[in-house]
Amino acid sequence: MILPGATLGMLGGGQLGRMFTVAARTMGYHVIVLDPNPESPAGKFATDHVCAEYGDPSALEYLARTCAAITTEFENVPAVALEQLAMSCVVRPGAKAVSIAQDRIREKAFLREFEVPVVRFAVVRSEADLEAALLLTGQPALLKVSRFGYDGKGQARVSNLEEARAAWDLMEREPCVLEELLTLEAEISVVLARGADGQIATFPIAENVHRNGILDLTIVPTRVSAAVQREAVVLAQTIAERLEYVGVLAVEYFVLAGGQLVVNEIAPRPHNSGHYTLDACITSQFEQQVRALCGLPLGPTRLLTPAVMVNLLGDLWSPNCDEPDWSAVLRDPRIKLHLYGKGTPRPGRKMGHFTCLDENPEVALAVALATRSALS
Ligand code: ADP
Ligand code: MG
Repeated sequence: MILPGATLGMLGGGQLGRMFTVAARTMGYHVIVLDPNPESPAGKFATDHVCAEYGDPSALEYLARTCAAITTEFENVPAVALEQLAMSCVVRPGAKAVSIAQDRIREKAFLREFEVPVVRFAVVRSEADLEAALLLTGQPALLKVSRFGYDGKGQARVSNLEEARAAWDLMEREPCVLEELLTLEAEISVVLARGADGQIATFPIAENVHRNGILDLTIVPTRVSAAVQREAVVLAQTIAERLEYVGVLAVEYFVLAGGQLVVNEIAPRPHNSGHYTLDACITSQFEQQVRALCGLPLGPTRLLTPAVMVNLLGDLWSPNCDEPDWSAVLRDPRIKLHLYGKGTPRPGRKMGHFTCLDENPEVALAVALATRSALS
């Protein structure tokens, strides 16, 4: 076990890195954050913030020399950086899992290898691929860039070949997947942690509502059937085992008519849809990330109360960046406010979230929605 007093490394300094840093420092660890952004939200809570690119050799050498263990808060760190670090310290999750999750083409191929259901899709690497791809998916379809997309960015809905060509040009002709546009009954996600000993702890399933491709609300407990929930948990655990995964892993699912499940994507890190665990579970996904990284036993994941999480995007800030009226949130004692300390609000940028807790799940949802309306 890596014990308090040791130094942990975090690749990435956004809000996920910040919440990890808070958890780790609360437990008595030192944290070094590597992030090229001088205004890194995680850097503000870290023992030290190395402001450099993720591939920067001297930054990586410093981390390798100083840290007992290193993890990541986002999938786009170069897998080679993880490989290099792993030669001299503990790196969890490993380069293999991260390199699969950071590339939609590899991710789908990996899932198909052991018959995990995925959406009907085709790989697009050349203009000639587009026509055959559209025949396979039908129209309309979704074109998604294989790497570096997030929060619905790097995606376009296309209704014919002409639109598909234009969208692919806009994506700078990077490798893409074209996906069938599914009719979703619901979206859910499973966040779990797997320890180095293979032990798995699974958080209660989150039901997610997206707006414009960005997570808007998470509702826990989910209203999908117990059978669908069981299947989702088994699939997520199988994926974690196949990846020989150590750390916190998130699996996003589409629920189709009749309860049919399709895996959308996986994230090799804590997940926005797991933020409710900070306030509503015995152990949060971030404490769990510390535990898995340090080889501590995983914490219990039991839900203490129904919860609804609402994301707060930069759209809530007025055009001249005035703060929203937080009294609308804070006057209700059932609501926990989390702000990420990001300097510049921009439309679509995740600035914070709040979680509404109530023993009656319908009340939690109604209060969360009313509070969101009062804010905007
Ligand atoms: P990101 O990496 O931006 O989260 P996703 O692939 O998860 O990208 O897509 C974001 C959201 O867009 C999903 O949560 C879902 O609401 C919608 N979406 C994505 N793919 C499809 C699809 N094939 N059919 C229907 N809706 C989709
Ligand atoms: Mg997603």
